[in-house]
Amino acid sequence: MSAPEIKGWCPGAWRPMRSGDGLVVRVRPWLGQIDRAQALGLAELAEQHGSGVIDVTSRANLQLRGITDAAHPAVIAGLSALGLLDETPEAEAHRNIVLDPFRSDPAQARLAAALAEALQGAEFTALPNKFGFVVDAEAGRLAEISGDIRIEASAEGVIVRADGCETGRAVADMNEALGTALALTRWFIASGGIGADGRGRMARHVAAHPLPADLAGAVVPVQAPSAPNPGALHDGLCLAAAFGQFSSDSLRALAGALDAGQPIRVTPFRMLFVPGLAQAPAHLDLITDPADPLLRVTACPGAPFCPQATIATRPLARRLAAVTPVPLHVSGCAKGCALPGPAPLTLTGRMGKCDLVRDGAPWDEPAHRDLDPDTLDLRTL
Ligand code: SF4
Repeated sequence: MSAPEIKGWCPGAWRPMRSGDGLVVRVRPWLGQIDRAQALGLAELAEQHGSGVIDVTSRANLQLRGITDAAHPAVIAGLSALGLLDETPEAEAHRNIVLDPFRSDPAQARLAAALAEALQGAEFTALPNKFGFVVDAEAGRLAEISGDIRIEASAEGVIVRADGCETGRAVADMNEALGTALALTRWFIASGGIGADGRGRMARHVAAHPLPADLAGAVVPVQAPSAPNPGALHDGLCLAAAFGQFSSDSLRALAGALDAGQPIRVTPFRMLFVPGLAQAPAHLDLITDPADPLLRVTACPGAPFCPQATIATRPLARRLAAVTPVPLHVSGCAKGCALPGPAPLTLTGRMGKCDLVRDGAPWDEPAHRDLDPDTLDLRTL
């Protein structure tokens, strides 16, 4: 099988994506966080106009699912009233920044806000929708999160690094970091990083076009040892939900546990993080135990929610979670949206059956074919 085609745009609130269960409306919270009123408002919108669930995405965004075409204007009005909507689709598309959700230094948030504002300038209008920034200047916690231009921590301070380069340029402070990130963006545009189809990514571009000396550097970024687990973390609490999908009830329960002004931060690890929260509210959907079997399985929405799917991925993943000896990815088709890469075990849906791939991606050669999802038993394979 060959690797699937990748779309060159990301859905948003203004420009939702059509799925098997209706429209998927992606919300990009400012600085990756929402307050109590916004959490309650999103829960209400999800219940009133959608399927009652809120997805956390790997770009630290939130998604409402199952929105009908007729309800979309009401959702847009609701998001606007909650302060969760950009003024235009273009403004929304150009605010593609992932900010360290576990930050303690407010300078990172100030930098991300200044960067978001600068990117609204006319000179950046042509940037591809998928072109993204990562602000990770404290501890390298977002080392695994993709981003074309990265503001990162080094052993000595802060660096700015173009994706595709192993080292970055040291900067004296966050002001210089902002200026260097914008200069890199201008260089990417001016040196032909954007193709005739409007697409383009930094890593591919620098492979053929070496950075100019004033934007290159030799400083290595630091990397956190591993992705975070749910539970107590950095003087707060990290909360997961099966498949990164929070029910409106669980979001409401979480909002009820917040003090006024206490934010919920959306992480690109498909979890929510609440600084200062010591104990999770009691709700069955909220996971704070890193050993919870549901954290061993990954699955895309699958059937009936995605038109490409021919198997119900998540019920199958839930059933197998308790017995899989290693992390398992259940993908509705070979595209691998939930995990576009290898996993120890991958089940790929095909014409109502599953293929099992060991240590590979959904599109790789399977070890077993045509398994019946209703009777499939991993222990016998
Ligand atoms: S991987 Fe899943 S969500 Fe993605 S296109 Fe295939 S069935 Fe749909």
